[in-house]
Formats: sequence, structure tokens, C-alpha cells
Amino acid sequence: MKDLMRMSDQVFINTYGRFPAVMVEGKGCRLTDANGNEYLDFASGIAVCSLGHCHPAVTEAIIAQTKKLVHVSNLYYTVPQIELAGMLVDNSFGDKVFLANSGAEANEAAIKLARKHAEPGCFEIVSLEGSFHGRTLATLAATGQRHYHRGFEPLPVGFYHAPFGDLSALDKLITQKTCAVLIEPLQGEGGVRPLDKEYLRGIRRLCDQNSILLILDEIQVGMGRTGSLFAYEQFGIRPDILTTAKALGNGLPIGAMITTSKVAASFGPGDHATTFGGNPVSCAAACTVLKTLISDGFLEGVKERGDYLHKQLKSVADQYNQFCAGVRGTGLIQGIVLNDHVAEKAPEIVKKLFNYGVLVTLAGGKVIRCTPPLIVTIEEIDAMVAMIEEVISNISAV
Ligand SMILES: *Cc1c(COP(=O)(O)O)cnc(C)c1O
Repeated sequence: MKDLMRMSDQVFINTYGRFPAVMVEGKGCRLTDANGNEYLDFASGIAVCSLGHCHPAVTEAIIAQTKKLVHVSNLYYTVPQIELAGMLVDNSFGDKVFLANSGAEANEAAIKLARKHAEPGCFEIVSLEGSFHGRTLATLAATGQRHYHRGFEPLPVGFYHAPFGDLSALDKLITQKTCAVLIEPLQGEGGVRPLDKEYLRGIRRLCDQNSILLILDEIQVGMGRTGSLFAYEQFGIRPDILTTAKALGNGLPIGAMITTSKVAASFGPGDHATTFGGNPVSCAAACTVLKTLISDGFLEGVKERGDYLHKQLKSVADQYNQFCAGVRGTGLIQGIVLNDHVAEKAPEIVKKLFNYGVLVTLAGGKVIRCTPPLIVTIEEIDAMVAMIEEVISNISAV
């Protein structure tokens, strides 16, 4: 592995702080590196491989489609794309779909659609502090975390950020020029922060009162992660536009923007496009993912094991409350929030867990984020929580 990592450092631009492992195989919740070390994966490629690594039905769909047709561009119709869009419409608030390759691209499409849909001169978008919406210039501007912006200014104009949880502050940022509010129902990268139900309902109300669009970024929490197919379902509201991506293809690159007929009508041929977006192989994978997620009992299982993970993590957090402020999350996205005085140890905690063969991710600087595959078992949760307890109980030694 050392040789491979050295070669990698020679040829790659240094944009990633990687863990020292060259992953070669995955099955379910387990990964194996090139030296034969095994890992229990509670990161799942940042909430992407939700059905677990190399899910047999997804692999089969990919192989079958690869033998038939891989790419024709969006100048022609393809069967997997039509099937996928149909399923997304049937299982959401939406009537119309645009397929992209990634999360940021789905958000770019949403931002462009919101601007096109609005009166001329209405282009401003309000999002939240602590949000994460992507790395392209517009989605970066929408991202409410300054440190991601540094060095890339000037960013596209018209993006404003309201303090998290403050409805009247958000109200004040809405002007005659605002076209949309862009929100994650649960902030993932920002530190596993769910929005209060009344807060998001209040945001919906503000959008209605001002005749502007509510765009929900469910790139991380859509596709079953929170225990419902989309997170918005648990808030009793509907967005005007929703974006999703990460888990949609269980690892194949794909993103989707879903919207209503009324909003969709603002886009015509030539207004937006992508060469690769909605390619047949990614769509075949995504169709299989969706069918699995909506199959009998699957989402109920996510909810049950999510509650169990929450409860087990909370008992660790309570026991070591000198280090932990608590646990928050919905379904199978859960985070242990560290107290400020140990927050600087967060990266070391994640590294230590890696050394013990458990993969988790850091979010919002001081939150240990767990996003296991949605097929994770109670035994795997127990094994992971035991390791977390081991590391946190020895936090002073970390
Ligand atoms: C990951 C993520 C994105 C960006 O998706 P990419 O596929 O990395 O472009 C945008 N929004 C949220 C909420 C995300 O978690």
C-alpha cells in the first residue's frame, strides 16, 4: 500500500486529505484494503453506498445495462432514464425531473431553474449558515460556510445566508429580488443538524407569503437515509424543487432535480443540458436502488435501526458527558457532538477509529458522523458503538 500511496501523491493534485488505505474491495458494510485489512464502514462513501458495497441486484443491473447500451447523450431517449424519472415522480411530490451527474450539478440546475422561473431581476437566493450545497462556484456561493469560500472570490452574486434556526432573520433577508430559499432539511456537512419541524414549516410559509420557491437540498438525506424516502415527508410540507444525488446510484454518479409541472415549464429546450447526465448505466443502478428502498418494510427497518443507533450512541454520550454534548440525527444519519473543549481532538478520534477498522466521517468540525449503509445490522451497530466507546473513554489519550 505504501508504494501505491507514494505514486498517488506524485500524480495527484493535493485536494484530499486521505486516510492511509488503498481500498480494493467492498461487500455490504465491510471494506478491504490492499494489505488485507478489514473495515466496518459507517461512512458508506459519504452516505452514497446506502444498499451496501456491491449490492448484488445493483451490480447485476449495472452489468446488464453495460452489455446493452452505455451512452447516447440526451439527444435521444433511453429506457432506464424514462423508468427512473417515472419512479421519482411516482414516489415524490414532483411531476418533472432533470437528471445530472452529481449533487452540485443538481443544485446548479435548481438555482438556474429558480432564476428562470422568477420575474426578471429576481435572482437572489437565501440559504442557511452552516449549510453545504456543493463546490461549483454558484453552489459554493450558496454554501453558508465561509472557510469553503476563501481564495475563490469573487463568487457569483445574489447569495445570502440566514443564521440557523432564526426564522425572522431569514424573513429579513427576503427582498423584492429574492427568487428562492435553498435549505437542507438536515444539515449533513454542517454537523448533522436537523431542522426543527416548526422552523421548516415556517420557512415554507415565508416562501408562500413572498411567492418564492422553496428548494430542498436532499442530496445527502434523500433516498431513505432518514427513514422516509425523502426527508421532507416527515415535516408535512412539500418543496417546489428538490435535489438528490448521493445514494441515488449506490455509487454510480447521478443526481436528480425534481419539481412541479408549473415550475418546470420555465425551462425549454436549450435552457439547460448535460452530456453525461442520466446516462443509462447510472439510471439502471438508480432504478434498482429505488425499487429496493420502496420495497416492503425497508424504510421501516431504517427507522428502527436508526433509532437503535441513536439510543446506543446516546448512552455513550451520556456516560462520557464531560466530552460529549449529545447525539443528533434522524434515521441512519446520526452524529455525536463533542464538547468544545475536546473539539480539536475530533480529527484524531476519527483517525483512531480508522486505526481500529471503523470508518466514520467528521462533520461541522466537532461532530462524529455515522452514515452506515441502510442495510446495517444490529450486530454491526453494536460493534461500531463498542469501538466509539473505547475511543471516547480514552479521549485524554487521543
Ligand atoms: C454532497 C453534497 C452536495 C454536493 O454533492 P456532490 O455530488 O459532491 O457535488 C450538495 N449538497 C449536500 C447537502 C451534500 O451533502
